[in-house]
Amino acid sequence: MTAQNAAQDAETLDATLAGLDLTARLRLVAELGGRAVFTTSLGIEDQVITAAIGLAGLPIEVATLETGRLFPQTVALMTETEDRFGMTITRYAPDQADIDAYASQYGLNGFYDSVEARHACCHVRKLKPLARALDGAAVWVTGLRRGQSGNRATTPFAEYDAERNLLKINPLADWSLDHINAYVDAQAVPINPLHARGFPSIGCEPCTRAIRPGEPERAGRWWWENDEKRECGLHVPEAAATSLTASSL
Ligand code: SF4
Repeated sequence: MTAQNAAQDAETLDATLAGLDLTARLRLVAELGGRAVFTTSLGIEDQVITAAIGLAGLPIEVATLETGRLFPQTVALMTETEDRFGMTITRYAPDQADIDAYASQYGLNGFYDSVEARHACCHVRKLKPLARALDGAAVWVTGLRRGQSGNRATTPFAEYDAERNLLKINPLADWSLDHINAYVDAQAVPINPLHARGFPSIGCEPCTRAIRPGEPERAGRWWWENDEKRECGLHVPEAAATSLTASSL
């Protein structure tokens, strides 16, 4: 299949997914064929998808990037979630040799010093483990929502990821935070206690702070970079991520 055909197929799938509820979206994705992987950060959106997969018993692998810098509450939630839904969440950790090389070049917390150093840390602790998680996958499911940030405002339900040569599915693209909260309440989904302490978006501990009332949902991520378009590089093409500057991140 050519990249053009794959992109057209994704467009058709996008239109189909728009008319379905969450479980039906995920069921259709599971039936596409090939290995389907859902990568979870254990944030509230991802917990909704994990719940939908677990409650319906869908054959979608649930994986997480255990960066080594996560909040203890996030690590504890992994086990709680596995117990609640009777599933295994596969952990992908960074290579120790990569971490050592990063620390000797930038310092363990060198990500505060420059955008380049921050990208280098995310590359080692997130992007490389993500590549292993998605190795051989045909479908990648994520919890991206249009309402999370201006950078995500046009998130489709399905798109062809040419860099990784797979279908990327965002089944919560059109969900509001109210919708998410209602699902969590209705299904008794375990969530990170940090959400109730002002953390709508939770990443690595040293790179996430609580937000103030009225701030955008992702304002607490890499807050010192002070720009709306900050991302870790998981959801932007790597070539673009490595060329991002402080003003465009
Ligand atoms: Fe490193 Fe922070 Fe990126 Fe985590 S979020 S990988 S600690 S720079």
